[in-house]
Amino acid sequence: MTIFSKIIAGDIPCHRVYEDAHVIAFLDIGPVSRGHLLVVPKEVKAQLHELSDESAAAIGRVLPRLARAVLAATGATAYNILQNNGALAHQAVMHVHFHIIPRIGSAGLGVGWNSGTLSASDASELVTNMQAALHA
Ligand code: 5GP
Repeated sequence: MTIFSKIIAGDIPCHRVYEDAHVIAFLDIGPVSRGHLLVVPKEVKAQLHELSDESAAAIGRVLPRLARAVLAATGATAYNILQNNGALAHQAVMHVHFHIIPRIGSAGLGVGWNSGTLSASDASELVTNMQAALHA
C-alpha cells in the first residue's frame, strides 16, 4: 500500500486530470517542469513487468492522449516519458507510474546516458535468452 493507493481511493487529494476504470492521471506534487503529469494504473503493482495485460493495455490506450493534453496545456513541443522500476532506478513510490515531463526551455528531465558498445557475441546471447524468456 503506497500513497498512490490512497490517492486512487480518494482518501488523499490530488489534482486529477483523467480517470477511467483502470487508470488515473494527476499532477506531480513536485514537478520537474510545469505540467508534469503522473499516469498511474489502479492495479496495485510495484513495477511495470508485474502489470496485467489489461492494465498495460489501458495505460497504452491513454498515454498518447494524455501527452497531447500536457503539450496543449503547457505549449511545450517536447517531452519525456519516464518510468522508474526499483529503488536502484530511482523509484520512490512503489506503485507503477509513468511520468509525462514536458521540456520547457531548460526545465525538464535531465538525462544521463552512458552509452557503451554492443558486441556481436553479446547481442546474439541476449537475443537468444530474451526470446527464450518470452516463449517460456
Ligand atoms: P518515482 O521516483 O517513484 O518515479 O516518482 C514518484 C513521484 O511521485 C515523484 O515525482 C513525486 O513528486 C511524486 N509524488 C510523491 N508523493 C506524491 C503525492 O502525494 N501526490 C502527488 N501528486 N505526487 C506525489
